[in-house]
Amino acid sequence: MTTTSFTKKTLGLETVEPAVTPPPSSTGETTFTKKPKISNGKSKKRDIPEGLWVKCKKCANLVYDKELDESLKVCPRCQYHFQLGARDRIQSLADAGSFVELDANLVSVDILGFAGTASYISKLADNQKKTGEKDAVITGLAKIGGHPVALACMDFSFIGGSMGSVVGEKITRLIERGTADQLPVIVVSTSGGARMYEGMFSLMQMAKTCGALAYLAAARIPYISVLTHNTYAGVMASYASVGDLILAEPGAEIGFAGARVIKDTTQAELPAGFQTAEFLLEHGLIDAVIHRKDLKKQLAEYLDFLMAAHHKDKEAAPATA
Ligand SMILES: [Zn+2]
Repeated sequence: MTTTSFTKKTLGLETVEPAVTPPPSSTGETTFTKKPKISNGKSKKRDIPEGLWVKCKKCANLVYDKELDESLKVCPRCQYHFQLGARDRIQSLADAGSFVELDANLVSVDILGFAGTASYISKLADNQKKTGEKDAVITGLAKIGGHPVALACMDFSFIGGSMGSVVGEKITRLIERGTADQLPVIVVSTSGGARMYEGMFSLMQMAKTCGALAYLAAARIPYISVLTHNTYAGVMASYASVGDLILAEPGAEIGFAGARVIKDTTQAELPAGFQTAEFLLEHGLIDAVIHRKDLKKQLAEYLDFLMAAHHKDKEAAPATA
């Protein structure tokens, strides 16, 4: 009891007049005496509209949503790269107005009749509604720094960017288009791996995409793989890891099996920074780690170099057909 009265006195609730005396309420109390909420120490979180602020996963600072959009979803304080949706990614890379989408209407079918906690059909419908996309990759033709390219961008928000028949087929068709039209192919990956809802059909996509890439390589057309947070499993074990150039975004987690699984299996301490872009750069898997704001410019420079070499090749060894 003594504590209560002490607190009240220090807060001045009974002795200090408000600057403007509010009208008394019908119960005879002044609204002022009804307002100790202001000083009760509780968070006023509810007053902040949801979705305006995003908490950075690395530095824990609150970042204004609009500011995050303007910085291509990179934390302005610590440079943490948030995941970027496929449409935003295309916009960040393609020359203005140059992107033409291909195979936009390919949709997955529930070939296994998968029924777990949620059926595959309902999972697909939910994700299509949530993202406004048909599946986890968008492919098309675009220009980057003036160079015509075949571009694929994956979207992690669609069933974890998982690779099912549609993802595999769209990427394969894109690579085949690149081969036919002599266009360099760029795939920006983010994926948890093959889509378990499609069983073996999703695993088949690993061989199919890599088969198409072999034809692209035989035609001496460059393929650039860009790894973003995070790229794992069946995608990393197929088209994502076989680029002529393999680039990655800072801090991106990249691997086949996750760190926890490897640790449990090998019972060994994993080195610091294991499965990060920087670690893989140091160990030779990745050619360069590039900040998102520089990615377009860097890709354009690589294309200048690679396409000059490609055209020189063609002049030196004209097609025999
Ligand atoms: Zn941050």
